[in-house]
Amino acid sequence: MKLFNVYPLFDVEPVEADGCLLYDQQHTAYLDFYGGHAVISIGHAHPHYIKRITDQLGKLGFYSNSVPIRIQKDLAHKLGEMCGYYNWNLFLVNSGAEANENAFKVASANNGRKKIIAFEGAFHGRTSLAVAATDNPNILFPVNEGAEVIRFAFGDFDGVEAEIKKGDTCCVILEGIQGVGGIKEPAQDFLRHVRSLCDETDTVMIMDEVQSGYGRTGRFFAHQHAFVQPDIITMAKGMGNGFPVGGVLIHPKFEARYGLLGTTFGGNHLACAAALGVLEVIENEKLIQNAKEIGNYLAGELSGIPQIKEIRGRGLMIGIEFDFEVADLRKKLLYEQKIFTGSSSNKNTIRLLPPLNIGKKEVDQFITALKEVLS
Ligand code: PLP
Repeated sequence: MKLFNVYPLFDVEPVEADGCLLYDQQHTAYLDFYGGHAVISIGHAHPHYIKRITDQLGKLGFYSNSVPIRIQKDLAHKLGEMCGYYNWNLFLVNSGAEANENAFKVASANNGRKKIIAFEGAFHGRTSLAVAATDNPNILFPVNEGAEVIRFAFGDFDGVEAEIKKGDTCCVILEGIQGVGGIKEPAQDFLRHVRSLCDETDTVMIMDEVQSGYGRTGRFFAHQHAFVQPDIITMAKGMGNGFPVGGVLIHPKFEARYGLLGTTFGGNHLACAAALGVLEVIENEKLIQNAKEIGNYLAGELSGIPQIKEIRGRGLMIGIEFDFEVADLRKKLLYEQKIFTGSSSNKNTIRLLPPLNIGKKEVDQFITALKEVLS
């Protein structure tokens, strides 16, 4: 059997990794400035993380949600402490798309509506139809029975206001910082405006922090730079440092009831051990502070490169825009300089999402390499 060929892959196969380095079969080292789409938060093969997972595997590797799982409570407690949403509730899932699906369900179960407001350049995942095919009316919400999605440009105050004021919007979903869309951040006053419109109309505000969360931008969640509190937050990628785990953070005003949400694998013991290990390393090694400081240093060094048209983002979620397509530049960075970078739907933008524990040395290596391939 072959793999279903849906990913355009570079022909470099990492077989080992350590910190911010990946090694191929010839043991050539590559600097990882992409972290598998922001998945690697604390660095590859972190010893504390590995110990957490292997200890858990030795106890009880995996069991489904049909029995109480203590480690889920430990994770919820630690997460609440670190992100500041102490009294919220956590629903554990396996991916970013699943987190967003469940966020829509909670919103729709709450206000009975099915219209979703989303934004140009947004990416929220690739699922949606399984529930429609499932023969169980108890898990069908208005939003599953023909959701209508209306899309606006970021910052279209008037359009969004007019739509929400109609009073029939289920929810508004925004990324803390758009990743796939090319590292674009909603203006802080726009976020605050959306917040107050949602309050006026009983519309649910969902922040998708799947890529921008977990300390990447120099705060736990990117929306916290704007001092806005949404009603639901979704997260995944950096949460497990590569272990598939996601979560929905739910404001206490939403009531849980049995059967409202569900998943077989979501919140399994190993996923929780991985996610706890990540939080412990982020805390012990002050990685949120590091993301802020090294991110500022990186942005400062990039600003001295004349070919760059624009630098966007915060912390270690950076978009570098040129006035030409970057595919060749990225190939040169990979094959000549041995550095992994990322792309986005904006073909002129390089996306950088390195592990949160990189230092100035790695930034200097990247800057020297970038200048060389640009010259
Ligand atoms: N939301 C955002 C902001 C993302 O960047 C992604 C993935 O790139 C998703 C949701 C979907 O996550 P997953 O691929 O884990 O389903």
